Amino acid sequence: MEKRKVYLDNSATTPVASEVIKEMQPYFGDIYGNPSSFHFFGRRAKTAIDKSRAKVAELLNASPEEILFTGCGTESDNIAIFGLLNAYGKKGHIITTRIEHHAVLYSCRHLEELGYEVTYLDVDKDGVISVEDFKKAVKGNTILVSIMHANNEVGAIQPIEAIANELKKINKTRKNKIYFHTDAVQTAGKLRLDVKKLGVDMLAISAHKFNGPKGIGVLYVKKGVKISPIMFGGHHENGLRPGTENTAFIVGCAKALEISNVAIENNEKHILHLRESLKKGILEAIPEVTVNGSGARAVSNILNISFNYIEGEALLLMLDMKGIAVSTGSACASGSSEPSHVLSSMCVDPVAAQGAVRFSFGHYNTEEDVDYVLRVLPKIVSNLRSMSPVWNLSLSDRKKGKI
Ligand SMILES: *Cc1c(COP(=O)(O)O)cnc(C)c1O
Repeated sequence: MEKRKVYLDNSATTPVASEVIKEMQPYFGDIYGNPSSFHFFGRRAKTAIDKSRAKVAELLNASPEEILFTGCGTESDNIAIFGLLNAYGKKGHIITTRIEHHAVLYSCRHLEELGYEVTYLDVDKDGVISVEDFKKAVKGNTILVSIMHANNEVGAIQPIEAIANELKKINKTRKNKIYFHTDAVQTAGKLRLDVKKLGVDMLAISAHKFNGPKGIGVLYVKKGVKISPIMFGGHHENGLRPGTENTAFIVGCAKALEISNVAIENNEKHILHLRESLKKGILEAIPEVTVNGSGARAVSNILNISFNYIEGEALLLMLDMKGIAVSTGSACASGSSEPSHVLSSMCVDPVAAQGAVRFSFGHYNTEEDVDYVLRVLPKIVSNLRSMSPVWNLSLSDRKKGKI
């Protein structure tokens, strides 16, 4: 029996790079001062944070004053959305999409409970919103637009720059500026992010999605954009994220973003090659599968495939027994058997949505990983299908030439 462990769930989280661990190590040891303390111990920690902030700023084409360190990607999204609305003061209208990560989607649902009006933009069959729909959705009382950069289930990249351009035109014609936030958690470290080129007011990323530690996020807030605190306590991070800074993780976050940006083209080439080999292998070996969102421009690491006539959850468990880690829908949604909100927004047939599995690559994956999956997967799929009454029925129909 082959014993291999193959991690294909890099959109859920990634392993911390050894260079990042090394960079963080001193801050768990000798350099333990509180960055707010004025003595030597504190100043050393403060210097490390300042350097990390400058590094992250440079990598995003922002200035250091525009960079906040937060507790995670979810927290960055919450500070952006609720902080902006708090500062604005009046209730109004928000535009987002149906395919956001829960960090934004559930924030918007909560806003509806608070009396805000929210428009959820539809997506096409490949998971992409339309700029025309966006233009039509804008109202006199629109305050905020929150649209993710790339989707975490299918990888589809949204037209952020085009939306920003439209917003620029729209904002010229009105007194109340509309602000633009993007959740770029799935693109940081995979695409070169340039906040000026993207044209956004706020942008959220999370270190553990690009080989940094879990529990540290970044929020870019453009100079001049007012956001109010949603937590209270201290002066840290411009008073927007009170609490003693996590020096080690801040250092690790900056290092991880730096490493992934240096290697971005090579990593993309490698990952794309692996993804395409897996896709090709699956399409050749297994009948009745569909690639979800294959028509869109997408990040290179995600492959979302529906295996018709079986449950994605069952496939996940069988793969897990063979040492292969994948996910169904998004990790946060697994455990519930509701079909993914992303796939249903893309009008994927509910039965096909139930059989969807996301393979997500990282640059540590190898060709051997793909070969192993291709040795194991077809057998598992045909075993599961042989137990499925629907599959057997459709099989006999196919033999009779009915379908
Ligand atoms: C993972 C993820 C988040 C949440 O980030 P955390 O750091 O885990 O809170 C938000 N948005 C997207 C698109 C994600 O993939």
